[in-house]
Amino acid sequence: MLDAEFFRRWMTATAAAMDREAARLTALDSPIGDADHGTNMQRGFRAVRTTLEKEPPATPGAVLTGAGRQLISTVGGASGPLYGTLLRRAGKTLGDAAEVSREDLAAALRTGVDAVSALGGAAPGDKTMLDALVPAVDALTGSFGAAVDAAAQGAQATVPMQARKGRASYLGERSIGHQDPGATSSALFFETLAATAAEAGE
Ligand code: ADP
Ligand code: MG
Repeated sequence: MLDAEFFRRWMTATAAAMDREAARLTALDSPIGDADHGTNMQRGFRAVRTTLEKEPPATPGAVLTGAGRQLISTVGGASGPLYGTLLRRAGKTLGDAAEVSREDLAAALRTGVDAVSALGGAAPGDKTMLDALVPAVDALTGSFGAAVDAAAQGAQATVPMQARKGRASYLGERSIGHQDPGATSSALFFETLAATAAEAGE
């Protein structure tokens, strides 16, 4: 079972991953965006880490809703409200349970992904974060490792796609041939989840 400590570790690991990968995420956002995705993610998850350290939430749901709130208030780009919505909605779905199962988390993230789709009007195939998030959440019902693989494959699969949502869509056909930065950060998010689970012996 996954407790609040597990979720705090996951968010802290994500902040470290965004620090480490910021330059790569920004480089991906350069040809098909405005070269800020890495700094956006870094700023957002640093704020999440700071808040978690100051006032550690007592339940998994509260960790996710608090993280989502921080992302919405600190990230200026499109990705802030979208990731913020993902985490807030997932956190609300988990409610005030002290411990949740991997299956509970998969179901909660599913409601979050649906909310991201409703907010941004995107679906898989539009070359957005949803191309990694949707297959990852589907695979999470099986195992953490399967979710990582599905997210990485989903991010890779955005390369030949033409963007239909977000800033990259302004480029039309010229968006083809580049990996989507948001799908790439979503894959990182599942990597840190699986790494946290492996450390916890889950
Ligand atoms: P901005 O586009 O405002 O500069 P970021 O660079 O931080 O914000 O994030 C860009 C990423 O946000 C894209 O790579 C894409 O994955 C995601 N994105 C943009 N618009 C949408 C949308 N409508 N639905 C889902 N994801 C989106
Ligand atoms: Mg950008």
